[in-house]
Amino acid sequence: MKINNIILRHIKMDLLHPFTTSVGTERDKDIILVEATTTSGHSGWGESVAIMEPIYNEETVQTNWHMMIDHLIPLLSGEELNHPDEVSERFKKIRGNYNAKAAIEGAIWDLYAKVNHMPLAKALGGVKKTIEVGVSVGIQSSPDNILKQIEDYVKEGYKRIKVKIMPGWDVEIIKLIRHHFPSIPLMADANCAYTLQDIDHLKQLDQFDLMMIEQPLAHDDIIDHAKLQSQLKTPICLDESIHSLEDARKAIELGSCQIINLKVGRVGGLTESKKIHDLCVKHNIPMWCGGMLEAGIGRAHNIAITTLSNFSLPGDTAPSSHYWKRDIIRPEVEMNSGYIQVHEKPGIGYEPDRDYIEELTIVQKTIQVN
Ligand code: MG
Repeated sequence: MKINNIILRHIKMDLLHPFTTSVGTERDKDIILVEATTTSGHSGWGESVAIMEPIYNEETVQTNWHMMIDHLIPLLSGEELNHPDEVSERFKKIRGNYNAKAAIEGAIWDLYAKVNHMPLAKALGGVKKTIEVGVSVGIQSSPDNILKQIEDYVKEGYKRIKVKIMPGWDVEIIKLIRHHFPSIPLMADANCAYTLQDIDHLKQLDQFDLMMIEQPLAHDDIIDHAKLQSQLKTPICLDESIHSLEDARKAIELGSCQIINLKVGRVGGLTESKKIHDLCVKHNIPMWCGGMLEAGIGRAHNIAITTLSNFSLPGDTAPSSHYWKRDIIRPEVEMNSGYIQVHEKPGIGYEPDRDYIEELTIVQKTIQVN
């Protein structure tokens, strides 16, 4: 597989509805799309999940643009790649910058699957024909709004409801939701909004039969999470804390979590995602695939990784129409009674909508690789 060019496109898309978590509100999304091409005419696509401000992690759209052009893409030159697993090996000497690495590696995984005429899901070792879909509900302006939203989502067939929480919007809101929906699969995501001093407060959540509480403590912690887990009945799911196979190993060994939310962009790509998956299988840690408000390309990659067997809990990969008026792929990602069908076509299984992508493009740059 000889990569000819990498084309980077910085696009901007308006979200259908603003999305609020404990770290802020997003109204639109700047996205870097990566297209890797071969001289034989194949194209593979990846998408960076980095946002404009370094508030989810230290990366931004601008740092990704710089890292890709000046440091990562040059490492693809020279010797031909036989398999996408070799990309993370080449990127190893560059520390961090996982969103940037994952976007490039994702494009090469798609390319590899297309060149070999197989669906990306199959190339990754996926086994599922459909995936279960959950939905994430942001912090709302009023309790009535959240109840109305959840009612709509339950009617649409979502397999679990995740509610974003933060101090002042937590125990009472979960209590209210449980009162109205006594049996829905329900979980809470704190996005790092608490500290160990909140143990007694967080313990109150134990009475609501939550599937899990996601990332209650700091983004860079696994020690305090272990202390908290030892006092909570509700399983802790780690999200922001897991950047690598090593992080997952340490968190599992310490008992910091019972579930892992994997985000491909956060761990540097699909190869590292597969390794974390296999480790979790060994330790009986169920997983699910999280979301970073991806457009269609990133969404397609999430669907592919979710087909691996240990992604046994519904993920956050909702259909395109949940986020966008119009997505950048054809067909769009559709959900049927809480399930997304996995496409059998080679690669990510969706065609990038080139005309629409061109309309959305702010800057484009082609980098010759070989
Ligand atoms: Mg989360």
